[in-house]
Amino acid sequence: MYMDEQRRGMEEVLMPLICPICRCDIYTNFYHKEHNDLIICKVCRHVYWREIPSEELLSTYYSLKYAPEHNQIELQKSNISYYQAHMQELVVMSKNSPENSSILDYGSSHPFLLIEAKSMGFSNVIGVEWDEEASKYGVTNGINMINPNELSQSIKDNSLDIVRFSHVLEHLIDPVIIMESINKKLKKGGLIYITQPNFPVFAFEESKRDLLDSVWPEHLHFFSPISLVKLVEGSGYNIIKYFTHQNTAQSLERYSENIDILYAIDKIKNQRETGDLFFGRNANYPVYSGENSVMFAVKK
Ligand SMILES: [Zn+2]
Repeated sequence: MYMDEQRRGMEEVLMPLICPICRCDIYTNFYHKEHNDLIICKVCRHVYWREIPSEELLSTYYSLKYAPEHNQIELQKSNISYYQAHMQELVVMSKNSPENSSILDYGSSHPFLLIEAKSMGFSNVIGVEWDEEASKYGVTNGINMINPNELSQSIKDNSLDIVRFSHVLEHLIDPVIIMESINKKLKKGGLIYITQPNFPVFAFEESKRDLLDSVWPEHLHFFSPISLVKLVEGSGYNIIKYFTHQNTAQSLERYSENIDILYAIDKIKNQRETGDLFFGRNANYPVYSGENSVMFAVKK
């Protein structure tokens, strides 16, 4: 009896879990995994791990292991025509001409997108990356490469026009700190672009199904539309466009038992007009069942 009480007391001291996005401390188990559990926040329905890796473990992991294992060079090279179209899209959304613009790609990998930006005439192109090989490749191609720890010193406040996060925020220990520090570096009205895995708004209860790609320590965050909106608005941005896409119908079927549509309807009403019906109704407010989110927002 005494041991149990003591252990319970220790657990409370040792594991003061708070939601990494909305900082709420009310959570419940979401899905039990062999070496770690997924848990869900009551307020923003963000799903995250009970135990998170240290900064040291993560930086070592990404500086040495990630790029070779995932064939980043080949993957990125095959995306060049996508990058050309995507850069045009960013220019249109930012309402600036390339010659007067600076762009930072957070988690640029081998920075093929930035090489494209440079050839379009962007005045300053910056890649943020842990991987040493990827950084060397960028420097060789005239790209200004820094590691995440150098961001606050190397980039002037209020100097950036466009910042891109493509499949990045879900890998970070604290996305809130990064979004706030990037906000300082952007000009007023500067654009951020986010794309990453998306999960619909889930009920605050245990799930019978695991989440897609819930691989530790690569994916640390499983954003709901509520937690993504909270992250972006709470870090000083106005959302101008937000939708999801890819396998919308399959994903809706996969998570049909988990979705809390009434909660979604209520909590992100301000996103009713920011969607894109090209991807279908369920890719937008309030269902958001596409496998990936796409968001454009500007610094307030
Ligand atoms: Zn939360």
